[in-house]
Amino acid sequence: MSSYNKKCVEDIDVKGKKVIVRVDFNVPLKDGVITDDKRIVAALPTIKYLVDNKAKVILVSHMGKPKGQVNPKFSLAPASKRLGELLGMEVLQATDVVGEDAKAKAASLQEGQVMMLENARFHAEEEKNDPAFAKELADMAEIFVNDAFGTAHRAHATTAGIADYLPAVSGYLIQKEISIMGKALANPERPFVGILGGAKVADKLNVISNLLEKCDTLIIGGGMAYTFLKAMGKEIGESLLDDSKLDYCKEMIAKAEKLGKKLLLPIDAKIAASFPDPIDGPIEVKCVSVDEIPADMQGLDIGCKTAELFANAVKSAKTVVWNGPMGVFENPTLAEGTIAIAKAMAETDAITIVGGGDSAAAVKKMGFADKITHVSTGGGASLEFLEGLVLPGIACLQDK
Ligand code: AMP
Repeated sequence: MSSYNKKCVEDIDVKGKKVIVRVDFNVPLKDGVITDDKRIVAALPTIKYLVDNKAKVILVSHMGKPKGQVNPKFSLAPASKRLGELLGMEVLQATDVVGEDAKAKAASLQEGQVMMLENARFHAEEEKNDPAFAKELADMAEIFVNDAFGTAHRAHATTAGIADYLPAVSGYLIQKEISIMGKALANPERPFVGILGGAKVADKLNVISNLLEKCDTLIIGGGMAYTFLKAMGKEIGESLLDDSKLDYCKEMIAKAEKLGKKLLLPIDAKIAASFPDPIDGPIEVKCVSVDEIPADMQGLDIGCKTAELFANAVKSAKTVVWNGPMGVFENPTLAEGTIAIAKAMAETDAITIVGGGDSAAAVKKMGFADKITHVSTGGGASLEFLEGLVLPGIACLQDK
């Protein structure tokens, strides 16, 4: 349990202290202009709390993949400028990460002032989690706050290594991830329903087995369902098949039975003669039972009966965790299964959690995000969370 019970910024005294905060300002840029500032907006509560409580705030982030080299294309200056606009105050931008400018600016920070270091990935030591680099960063501050969930599954100098040298706590973003998703997995209100979709079984092996142990019902849709259906002896035509994972699927089916867990798979599918090209282009589909998929057709979305079956399972749940689309949701004709799940989750009073990546994007695009208890901000990080792994960027924080 302790990994879900971490200290947050509110649990420590920050007044007058230099606080180095790992944020995720890896925002999309086009010609030096930020095209989507939601990651900066998401970090505001933690930054504002620190400013209001008179901390001296030093922000650190990565941006893109500069591969350990200084590269102005990946500068954090546009992000700190945008942050300044959002905060309505000046944000000092250092020209380096642990160089003279950063150190001088950090040393002369006033209470309530905010500065931003340059891109941590300008140094190869960042991703190598080099202890000397982590210590140099730590030496500029007195407290470390991690608020970048999207990189919490990586043990880098600014996400984990730095915590070897400073008292470390979470910001509000990580706190929310821990308290909702962590708690749901460790101590869920039951019935607990897990829903998995997406393309490949191979990408989610550990998620499937971990959720099977924790859930009362595990629902599998999307492309990965077809390998399960094949493992049950069904003919799946040209549908996505992870040949090498057939035995694994058989194992999971047996495991569900042994543990007395319900494993729900599609009973019907929307099929087409080929994969849509372009992916959002027009496509002719028909809906058939999963016992009737012709050899030359492929399943690209769950059918209506399956959508109803899955939605009913969601309705009877007290906790629902969902990761991965039910079909090729990029195509409007093949998005209905994914929309049905999103809608069922939006309509229930249960604790509903969408675990990052495509399903989070889908829920937001459909306008359901504010009816979901928690939409996780990290794709890879949330998957590792669902696998039951302890994330290095969370493990390094102080227990309450
Ligand atoms: P993932 O990254 O594993 O979550 O997979 C997401 C991708 O799976 C999306 O781009 C979907 O288009 C794709 N997908 C979902 N269902 C199917 C399916 N039945 N056949 C092929 N691809 C699918």
